[in-house]
Amino acid sequence: MRVAVLGAGLAGTMTAYELFRDGHEPIVIDRRSQPASETSYGNAGMIAPGHAFSWASPAALKTLLRSIGRNDTALRFKLQADPHFWRWALRFVRNCTTNRAAYNTVRKVGLCLYSQSQLHRVVEETGVAYGAVSGGALYLHRDPAALERGDRNADIMRRLGVEVRRVTPVEAARIDPVYLPIIDRFAGALYVPGDESGDARLFTRQIADWLTARGVQFRMNESIQRIETSGKHVGRIVTDKGEVQADAYVLALGCYAATVGRTIGVDLPIYPVKGYSVTIPIAGRNNPPHLSGVDEHNLFAFANYGEHVRLTAIAEFAGYDWSHKPSDFAGLLTAARELFPDAGDYDQAEFWAGLRPMTPSALPIFGRARYDNLWVNAGHGHMGWTWACGSGRITADLIAGKEPAHDVSSMLHTAQRTLAPWPRSSNASS
Ligand SMILES: Cc1cc2nc3c(=O)[nH]c(=O)nc-3n(C[C@H](O)[C@H](O)[C@H](O)COP(=O)(O)OP(=O)(O)OC[C@H]3O[C@@H](n4cnc5c(N)ncnc54)[C@H](O)[C@@H]3O)c2cc1C
Repeated sequence: MRVAVLGAGLAGTMTAYELFRDGHEPIVIDRRSQPASETSYGNAGMIAPGHAFSWASPAALKTLLRSIGRNDTALRFKLQADPHFWRWALRFVRNCTTNRAAYNTVRKVGLCLYSQSQLHRVVEETGVAYGAVSGGALYLHRDPAALERGDRNADIMRRLGVEVRRVTPVEAARIDPVYLPIIDRFAGALYVPGDESGDARLFTRQIADWLTARGVQFRMNESIQRIETSGKHVGRIVTDKGEVQADAYVLALGCYAATVGRTIGVDLPIYPVKGYSVTIPIAGRNNPPHLSGVDEHNLFAFANYGEHVRLTAIAEFAGYDWSHKPSDFAGLLTAARELFPDAGDYDQAEFWAGLRPMTPSALPIFGRARYDNLWVNAGHGHMGWTWACGSGRITADLIAGKEPAHDVSSMLHTAQRTLAPWPRSSNASS
C-alpha cells in the first residue's frame, strides 16, 4: 500500500519506518530541507518515563493563574484572542482534577514503557547511533518538602513498574560525580535508573537516511498547501511542487496537524506550547552532567550529547510563534551556570525555541479522523521523543487494521470508531 506521511519530524519519520518494515511504500513530505527541522530539532533529549507526570493537575492550574502577564516564570502565559487557544484551555482545565491527572499519568507512563521497548528494537534493527546515554536520570530537589512530595507522587510510577529511588545528595554524586562539588545545594534527588537520553534530531535524520538508502522517498522542501477530499475519502495532497496520491495518508505535522486538519473539518485539540533550548559545546577540560535530568526547583532539563550539553526550559503559550530573543534564555542560563558552572563553553551557546504539540490531556492522538483513509499520529506534547518509536508502531498497526500491542483506546480520535472497516481494497494511483 502506498502511504503519504505528512511531516518528517519524529512522528512522521518513525511512522514511515514502521510502514516500510511492514512492506508498504511510504512517501514522506516535509516543507523543510532536512527531517527533524521543527520541534524535533532541539528538544531536551530525555527518553524518560520518570518525566511523564500529567501537566494538567490541580497544582498546574494555580501555577498558570500566577503566571499571567509575567515573563520570569517557567510557565508563561500571554492573554490572547485566539478562540482555538480558549477551547484548548477549557479542555485543559477539565483535565486539572486529581483523578484526571492520575488517569493521564498512568496512560502516559504506559506509552513511555512500550515506546522505549520499541526504540531498543529499532536501534537493533538499524544500528543507528544517536548519542544514546543509558543509566538513568536524576530529578534534583533543592527543598526537602518538595523532595518529600515528589517521592510520594512517584508512587504512581512505582505501581506501574517504573523504578524510582530516592537518593541523598551524596548518593546522587556517586551516580553522577558532577554533583560532588555542589552536594550542599540540594536536598536530594529521585533517581530513575531506566530513563535514557539521546539526540532526537540525529536519530530522526539517521532513520531517514536509512530509509532513503532503501528507496523510501523523502520529498523535502515541499510545502503541503491543500488536502483534497471527496465524501469520506482523501483523494490527494496538493503541494507547492505538485501533488501526491496514495492509498492512505498520515497527519504527522506536529502543531500544524491542528491547522491543516481544520481545513478539512478534522478537529485535533493540539495547541503549541513553546519551549526554549540552549546547546553548549563541551571541551575536554569541562565537567558536564553525564546523565540527563531535571532541576525541579528551576524547572530546566538537561542531557549530555557527547560533544554538547543541551539545556531546555519554559512552557509558554504564545501561539505559533517560533521567535526568540536573548532575554528569553536569561533565567535558564543563570540556573544552569549555578548548577553546572563548568558544563561547557557557555559563550558558544546555540539558542533555539520550539513548539510542543500539546493536547489538553498531554496524551497523543492516534487513529483515523473523519476520513476512512486519513490517520493521525500527532499531539505528542513534551514527550514526542520518548514516544516516537511506539507511536510509529501503533500507527502502522492501526493502518494495517491490527490491534496495537499497546492499548491506545484512550488516545484514539473519536472518529476512529464510526468509520468503515479498514483496510479496504486499494484503488489509488500514483
Ligand atoms: C523545549 C522542548 C523540549 C523537549 N524535550 C523533550 C524530551 O526531553 N523528551 C521527549 O520525549 N520530548 C521532548 N520534547 C517534545 C518533542 O520534541 C516533540 O513532541 C516532538 O518533536 C514532536 O514531533 P512531531 O514529529 O510531532 O513534530 P515536528 O518535529 O514539529 O514535525 C512536524 C513536521 O511537519 C512539517 N510540516 C508542518 N507543516 C507542514 C506543511 N504545511 N507542509 C509540509 N511540512 C509541514 C514540519 O516541517 C515538521 O518537520 C520537547 C519539546 C520542546 C519544544
